[in-house]
Amino acid sequence: MIELAVLDMAGTTVDDGGRVYDALRQAVEETGATVAQKDLQDWMGTDKVTAIINLMQLGGVEPTDEAAQKQFLRFKQILSESYRAHPPIEIGGAAAMLRELQSRGIKVALTTGFDRDVVSPLLASLGWAVVGQEDAEQAVIVLDAVVTTDDVSAGRPAPYLVQRAMERTGTVDAHRVLVAGDTVVDVMAGRNAGAISCAVLTGGATRDVLRNASPHHILESVAEIPNLPATRPECSGTCNVDATFVPDNDYLLLTPGPLSTTKTVRAAMLRDWCTWDADYKQLTESVRSDLLALAQCGDDHSVILMQGSGTFAVESVIGSTLGMADQQRPGKLLVLANGAYGRRIAQIAAHLRIAHEIIDFGDLTPVNIETARQKLAEDHSFTHAAMVHCETTTGVLNPLREFCAMTREHDLTCIVDAMSSFGGVPMNVADLGIDFLISSANKCIQGVPGFGFVIARRDALENTAGRSTSLSLDLYDQWQGLENGHGKWRFTSPTHVVHSFAQALVELTAEGGVEVRHERYRSNQQRLIKRFHDAGLDAVIAPEAQSPIITAFGYPTPDFDFAAFYEDLKQEGFVIYPGKVSEVDTFRIGTIGEVYPDDVDRLADAVVAHRKW
Ligand SMILES: *Cc1c(COP(=O)(O)O)cnc(C)c1O
Repeated sequence: MIELAVLDMAGTTVDDGGRVYDALRQAVEETGATVAQKDLQDWMGTDKVTAIINLMQLGGVEPTDEAAQKQFLRFKQILSESYRAHPPIEIGGAAAMLRELQSRGIKVALTTGFDRDVVSPLLASLGWAVVGQEDAEQAVIVLDAVVTTDDVSAGRPAPYLVQRAMERTGTVDAHRVLVAGDTVVDVMAGRNAGAISCAVLTGGATRDVLRNASPHHILESVAEIPNLPATRPECSGTCNVDATFVPDNDYLLLTPGPLSTTKTVRAAMLRDWCTWDADYKQLTESVRSDLLALAQCGDDHSVILMQGSGTFAVESVIGSTLGMADQQRPGKLLVLANGAYGRRIAQIAAHLRIAHEIIDFGDLTPVNIETARQKLAEDHSFTHAAMVHCETTTGVLNPLREFCAMTREHDLTCIVDAMSSFGGVPMNVADLGIDFLISSANKCIQGVPGFGFVIARRDALENTAGRSTSLSLDLYDQWQGLENGHGKWRFTSPTHVVHSFAQALVELTAEGGVEVRHERYRSNQQRLIKRFHDAGLDAVIAPEAQSPIITAFGYPTPDFDFAAFYEDLKQEGFVIYPGKVSEVDTFRIGTIGEVYPDDVDRLADAVVAHRKW
């Protein structure tokens, strides 16, 4: 987490109604110079004597030191009169933001291109004071420092104001400082200081203008600062990642994972880490405990991270729970399938020579638990049952609660492939009674591919000791390695992937958690259904069975050319997904990842533009 937030005043935290601008303009124009709005904006953030000299020059008047000093006095005079008539106010949410940061233990400082003569009346009229000041006791906000141009040898874009704020608050590491301002020079000063530098749009400068200064974040206003991962107590060192040099993606992935990630998630991969030392083990342990909390589980459960893609984790669960059957420990798996991923579980069992049966419900409806119950009533040889929660083949959401209840009634070990739903659909793994839940890094947690994870009941895990016929996919050994080594992976771990996953977990919390993310995915999907329907494309799954994760659309006409459609959309910056259903021709659109309803609108516009039906 950051230690210090350094915020600009006018236009960023304080709205003075543009009176500083007016006063500066008037003071310069009194010399006969004409002041262009853009020049005024460019020079606003610097100390005012420098600003006056440059604006005089730009406005066609040769500046002298004497004239500049004289107009500086005029500027102060004009401004204080103007403030007396119209007291400044805080910019929406600034005071609440300052209080929130302070409550998290972050110090707050204001910096300004004004000098103390402007700042003192301004702060007093807001009821804000600096720590140690006489009026601090009655103040509504007590700032940890206020630094003005009087305190430094040069204003912005030099980093000195920020550095002086660091000095006053005893802050040493610039990576733990966040700077925010509304002008290009504010952003440059933050960058020059080596801090996390944010631009805000409340000062009038446009997004395009500010983007040129390469801020780490562009925010609507300072009210959004407490949402930034770096201001969150749970943020590890990796939050202070510099995403500025991370390239933009060439296209938006509308696929069910790997999916579009944030720049900060990708930036977390830009350094190398060793895989066994205390820092890294601690990172692994924090990832494991975060996943446990996301699953709403306590000490009865544990988390195992497993190298490889999601299927590796599924295979490790099937092989470790049902492998090496013998007289004492027989086992038979019932697989309920309604798509490619359900069938893959049966395929794994077949490869591992594990006794199993599959009930296949076709691709277009949810699995039917009643049918499974009948099967279990007739055949008592089953010990385990497995089902996919969100069947990514079509986007069908299967009845998880009913499935889990059925496994309990028949005393079966409950295995759920929640690969594409965990983190994007709220679920209480402990309450549901799931013994083994499987998901992976590159789905709804919005990390990059490289490992899967299993959330399992400890007593069910204990039963898997010695059952796996595979060394590398032995879930029990992997679990013991992590537990006994306090976060040590048995074999080389995907270090970069784990670091970016830790960042993705922080960003999930910052977004508001699984419920809020679920709402976003739902909004995406509802927008998609509506806009595509208007364009003549309809989902193959009934709305009540449809997940917010991915949607399968039927071809609009029998001669629909998917390859051409795919290429057209890719040219427009969207990558969609081919279909996988046997009964009907489909293609799929994922609505998970760093994707928002606006993106869905842009996609729908592109579809309409390229429509050939
Ligand atoms: C993505 C996914 C998997 C795993 O696929 P991999 O290609 O091995 O990562 C398994 N099950 C479901 C439901 C999935 O969506």
